[in-house]
Amino acid sequence: MEKLVRVILPLVLILSLFSCLQEEVILESEPEILNGQIDESLLPYFEQFEIEAARRGFVVNLEQHGINGTIEEISENFVAGTCTYGTHLPGDVVVDLGFWNNSSAFAKEMVIFHELGHCYLRRDHKETSFLNGTCTSIMRSGNGDCFDNYNPRTREYYIDELFFEEL
Ligand SMILES: [Zn+2]
Repeated sequence: MEKLVRVILPLVLILSLFSCLQEEVILESEPEILNGQIDESLLPYFEQFEIEAARRGFVVNLEQHGINGTIEEISENFVAGTCTYGTHLPGDVVVDLGFWNNSSAFAKEMVIFHELGHCYLRRDHKETSFLNGTCTSIMRSGNGDCFDNYNPRTREYYIDELFFEEL
């Protein structure tokens, strides 16, 4: 007789930026949701996310929402950041230490906004591209065909797309 194995909630999703990694983990207990802990270096970027949200009419307080942010070595190659969230886990953003030490403020913002796109906005990846091959969203996985074009000229568009998805 065949047995149907089902994954029981709570689910935790781990989404990473450059390689599309999605894992399901069963938490053993239900952690109490407390204010998030955000690394001091990440704080300006998290605050900028809140500012960009406010400019678009959304009230966002990542800390109160329980979102955590840390900078750590991510062992998987070419992964700049990850987001882990679950039914009882508001969201853990991890930014790779090597990426952090070797990247511009713009690249850092893109990665952090991407991870908050998963962890706060609960968005999935989106791989579509414009005719010139550039990604239509910073929520691209990095495994698709499009290439990044996040710069001072396109920033407004990409942040609008992040918050509104269907423009
Ligand atoms: Zn991602």
